[in-house]
Amino acid sequence: MPLLTSLLPITFPVRRAAAEPTPAPGPVCVASFDIEEHHRIEAAARVTVPEAVKAEYAGRMERVTRDLLGRLAAAGVKATFFVVGEIARTHPHLVRDIHAAGHEVGSHSWDHRRVHTFTPAAFRDDLRRSKEALEDVTGAAVVGFRAPTFSVVRQTGWAVDVLAECGIEYDSSVFPVRHDRYGVPGAPRGPFRAAGHDREILELPLLTYRAAGYSLPVAGGGYFRLFPPAVMRAGIRQAAAAPGPAVAMLYFHPWEFDPDQPRLPLGRLARWRTYVGMRRTTARLDALLSAYTFTRAADAARGIRAAGAELPRYSLVAA
Ligand SMILES: [Zn+2]
Repeated sequence: MPLLTSLLPITFPVRRAAAEPTPAPGPVCVASFDIEEHHRIEAAARVTVPEAVKAEYAGRMERVTRDLLGRLAAAGVKATFFVVGEIARTHPHLVRDIHAAGHEVGSHSWDHRRVHTFTPAAFRDDLRRSKEALEDVTGAAVVGFRAPTFSVVRQTGWAVDVLAECGIEYDSSVFPVRHDRYGVPGAPRGPFRAAGHDREILELPLLTYRAAGYSLPVAGGGYFRLFPPAVMRAGIRQAAAAPGPAVAMLYFHPWEFDPDQPRLPLGRLARWRTYVGMRRTTARLDALLSAYTFTRAADAARGIRAAGAELPRYSLVAA
């Protein structure tokens, strides 16, 4: 069951909009982009990818990211880019240009390993390495973190202590859903104080939609590519209606906007989940960007702090 909950064909109590969505009152949306080459995805963790193919994915990652920068500029949207630290070394101009366009550059780890693979000390080194590499090229502090494959979960709740110690102001790695690869099913669906052993951090969880007793991960990925746009919009409406500060955290990857890229040799389910709906994504992103109000995650985090709103506290390490 958990294997398929990420893409279950549940009947949604939402209607397809006839035309473009009307600008919604409501929550602030954050468009976040996880910047990594396609071969780094978790589904390909055990696939050996030839160097020439990696080089091709790196070139496509840069091209698509630059195209996304153009679309964001056209829509007047400032976004948050969680960038793999190594990319600051291999593509310093790209990272500099993201920052120069007014977007936020956050950390997406050094080389896209899940938090589960680290001890706390090794995770600290990885985080610092990525933070410093990104800061070196942009000259701006990195204050936000997104774990590869949303791997801040109960088992890795100690990561909160490390993130807070290293000067990270907010984390956006918790997906409050039940899923085979990630998820903290009981976590709050809106901004909350994530507690580790000794410290806390502001958590901006990924957008979910609650229907028929399930929390569905509608923030991006297969839900964005496969299901009608009304599904994500319904999640955004629920976020707006929830008590407390409303932030609808959305996520995308450059490779999701590149339908003609060479396919990785994945198993059947992984292949479907990875490549479904890719020809729709660019038009869908443009429609989203023009329909809602967007802000950078760091600004949303600062706004929440400035408003002094009471946030729920949720321990990721409690038994
Ligand atoms: Zn990633």
